[in-house]
Amino acid sequence: MAYRFWCGECGYRTHWTSESEGAQRQLAHYTDRHSGIQPGGHVEVNRKSPSGGAGCVGAAVLLLFLLVLLASLHH
Ligand SMILES: [Zn+2]
Repeated sequence: MAYRFWCGECGYRTHWTSESEGAQRQLAHYTDRHSGIQPGGHVEVNRKSPSGGAGCVGAAVLLLFLLVLLASLHH
């Protein structure tokens, strides 16, 4: 999944990234642009993760497919 953190004070938003990296970038933005203000805004979640491709589920399905393929070759 990909996360995008939106600033609560201006129109700033991070690019699609991991949850921990997005939180860090948002915090860095607040420190830089809105020092003294408690970090706010909201988080947008994308389950399809356009930047990360198919992600973990896709890898698991691919692995399962390869196992089935290997098993079928043995028979
Ligand atoms: Zn801002």
